[in-house]
Formats: sequence, structure tokens, C-alpha cells
Amino acid sequence: MPVLLIFVDGLGVGVRGRHNPLDVLGARAAPLAVFEDEEPSLPFGGLLARTDARLGVEGRPQSASGQTTILTGVNIPRLLGHHKQGFPNERMREVLREHSLFLQLQKLGHGPDVFVNAYHPQFFAKRPRWVAATTVAVEAAGLPFRTFEDLKEGRAVFHDFTNRDLLKRGLDVPERAPEEAAAVLARLAGEHRFTLYEHFVADRAGHDQDEAAALDILGGLARFVRATLSLLDLGRTTVLLTSDHGNVEDLSTRNHTLNQVPTLAWGRGREKVVGRVRTLADITPTILEILKEEVAAN
Ligand SMILES: [Zn+2]
Repeated sequence: MPVLLIFVDGLGVGVRGRHNPLDVLGARAAPLAVFEDEEPSLPFGGLLARTDARLGVEGRPQSASGQTTILTGVNIPRLLGHHKQGFPNERMREVLREHSLFLQLQKLGHGPDVFVNAYHPQFFAKRPRWVAATTVAVEAAGLPFRTFEDLKEGRAVFHDFTNRDLLKRGLDVPERAPEEAAAVLARLAGEHRFTLYEHFVADRAGHDQDEAAALDILGGLARFVRATLSLLDLGRTTVLLTSDHGNVEDLSTRNHTLNQVPTLAWGRGREKVVGRVRTLADITPTILEILKEEVAAN
């Protein structure tokens, strides 16, 4: 009974207004548009858990600490005493190597699990000094990274699932409509026990306060998520969508926001997700619980 986690960098629960591209987009932003003090009506029977990204620590939530918390279940800002931007430091890498969701899943047995994002050939040629939380989390379980060959052959998705960024840089990859990329993701999710996909460009548009980019990116992402949901068997599959911190929902500031983030849940385990998730530290334990029940039931 597969679980798919869609991670969106920089997507918070904001208020309506001209500054919020999710409001400007209207129905085209479903299911990503969630507003304060308003019950959303989510397609495909989706449920919402408003999720605390501040984790009891002062300051603006940041990517490295938020993502590491999501992928381990360990409250990293509390461990460090602050929110950490950019890439994980050695302390955080240690936590990832010990508590990575992928590693904990591997200990349960009954894979296979996959991180579907394709890595640039440069990553394999010369490993960068600083790597993202997910890279360390995947390595902790000894899982292989997907390549641009996988991307071309429909076995991977780039973080910008349209591949437009790569095409602009002259790489030989196919351009994909949101629905085409969704078909790849849905097929991979059907073939694996646990599937992770990560999307980063909405956070960039938020930092740039670029409304045109934000509307384009969020409209495309919403299409991609709806198409993915339409292709999955939600009687078998659980889908979660979450974020590390707010940003793009408020283009009046270039900073991350202090807002909650949406954790959206569909399919088989959706009640469990909304019953359990209160903070980013609850994502990994919830996924493990859902998949442990499957192991017990089989
Ligand atoms: Zn950011």
C-alpha cells in the first residue's frame, strides 16, 4: 500500500489578498491554496492538517532545519537552538545518517523506496561540498540517486518537473507538461512502497517577490498535483504534501514567513495523517506508522 510524499519548498498558509498568488490564482491553485481561518474544499477528498514549522524556536523557519526535521522526525531547531538555512551542518548530517526516514523504512523491510528527483551529471562527476538534507537521507539508506538518463526514460522527475530550467541551460531532456510529469510520478509511486518527490522553485519565486513567476510555478504545480492524484489508486495509496516553511504565500516580503504550512493528505491513510500531524516533526513518524500497519496486516 504505497505512500507518496510531495515536498514543496516555501509554501505556507497565508491570508487572502493581492500579495498572495494562491488567492490571485483562484480555483487554478487547488489544492495548494489554503488560507488562515478558512476551511478549504480540497479535491479528491483531501484533508488538511495545519502544521507548525516554527517548532517552538524563535526566528524564521529555514530550509535546512525544516527539511531535516521532516525527513527524520527529530526537532532540529530545538536540537540546534536555532533555525538553520542553506544546507545541513555536520550535526544535522549525523542526525540524518541515524534517523533518515529512508533508513527507518529500510529497517522495516518490504521496500522498495525511491527518491524520484533526477540529479545533475555534475553531482556524480564531482560531489558538491554542501549537499541537501534529502541527499544525506537517501545516502543513509544506501539508495541510488536517479540520473538524467532516468529522467529521459521516464524513471525520474526533475525538481522543476517541466524540465524547462534544464532546457534553458542547453541540456538534452524532454519538456514535460504538468500532466506528463504527473504520469511519471504516479507510475513510480505505484511501483514503490515509499516515494519522495521534491519541488524547490516556488521558494525561489517567493524570495524574488516575482509575481509572474509565482503564478506560473504555482499554477503548474497545482495542475501537476491534481493530475498525479487523478492517476493514483487512492483506495490503496496515501499521498501527503507538505512544506518546510512559508514564503510564496506572501510576496510583500522576500523573507520566509512565520505562517503554518499545509500538510495535505489523500487516500487510504489520510485520516491518520490529519489525526497525527501537528508539526514538521510528525511527518516521518506518521509515514512510518502507516507503513508499519501495512507490514502488520500482511
Ligand atoms: Zn527559502
